[in-house]
Amino acid sequence: MIPAPFDYEIAESVDQAVELLGSRDDAKLLAGGHSLIPLLRLRFARPALLVDIGRVDELRYVRDAGEQLAIGAMTRHHDLHHDPLVQEHTPIVSYTAGLIGDPQVRHRGTIGGSVAHGDPASDLPTILAALDADLVVRGPGGERTIPAAEFFRGVFETALGPQDVLTEIRIPKLGPAGWSYVKFTRRAQDWATVGVAAVVRRSNGTIDEAAIALTNMGPKPVRAHAAEAALKTADDVNAAADVVAQESDPPSDTSGSAEYRRHLAQVLARRALEEAIAK
Ligand SMILES: Cc1cc2nc3c(=O)[nH]c(=O)nc-3n(C[C@H](O)[C@H](O)[C@H](O)COP(=O)(O)OP(=O)(O)OC[C@H]3O[C@@H](n4cnc5c(N)ncnc54)[C@H](O)[C@@H]3O)c2cc1C
Repeated sequence: MIPAPFDYEIAESVDQAVELLGSRDDAKLLAGGHSLIPLLRLRFARPALLVDIGRVDELRYVRDAGEQLAIGAMTRHHDLHHDPLVQEHTPIVSYTAGLIGDPQVRHRGTIGGSVAHGDPASDLPTILAALDADLVVRGPGGERTIPAAEFFRGVFETALGPQDVLTEIRIPKLGPAGWSYVKFTRRAQDWATVGVAAVVRRSNGTIDEAAIALTNMGPKPVRAHAAEAALKTADDVNAAADVVAQESDPPSDTSGSAEYRRHLAQVLARRALEEAIAK
């Protein structure tokens, strides 16, 4: 289908983007366009104005920020996958970026667009939830930082207001932690039917810390706290996998029923935890 008519402006800076978003009711940012353009074509979105931030180079970077990596919102999936700092300090992010869609999607799609879109089937939001990342947002009232646990609110719903621009993603460095992201798809290059991210920290043979997060197992990325606790107390992958779906509310759709997804999450959690512990 052809999108409904809209006006189009190119922003040269973040401040200009914030200003342009405030210039009309129902204005929307355009980043890589790989989620928004399909919605426009289906007329599920009918913004009056598109504000293109594709040329805002100040949002395209990866920087070492001490304990964290700071990643500009317009950094593309392809660049995340190949960036040496991301590979060294947050390899789960680099690995996962390489699993997104196909090369065309990875060359256009951005981490900021993926996060701001709030699609529970997206991969990077799950990783950010597992790593307790922070999201930096600039709006008419200035800049604020929102923890990933508070940023994702529901299906296509986030903490972003209508005039907000997500500018930076701050991700704690992993250090020596073991990690894994296991994504199950019906066909190559699909969105995840279910995905499981696991990060495990061990010392002297015991598990000190575990973070487990699930993709497409609810309206937003799900942290599996019961499974994290089971892994730490019992040091048993099977005990953790058994309760991994406890806090989830999976959808039923053409890729699988909720019941199937709960079972799949257990199987994938076992694989992800074994891989993370072995790393
Ligand atoms: C064929 C195909 C396969 C795909 N497969 C996968 C997959 O396997 N896994 C996966 O995770 N994703 C997948 N995607 C989605 C892809 O990752 C998108 O690129 C991403 O979700 C959106 O990023 P974008 O830069 O294209 O954002 P856009 O489409 O430009 O924008 C998406 C939304 O975010 C808003 N937005 C964008 N940037 C900002 C910002 N900086 N601040 C505030 N709001 C902003 C826009 O206004 C819009 O509402 C796929 C897409 C396609 C087309």
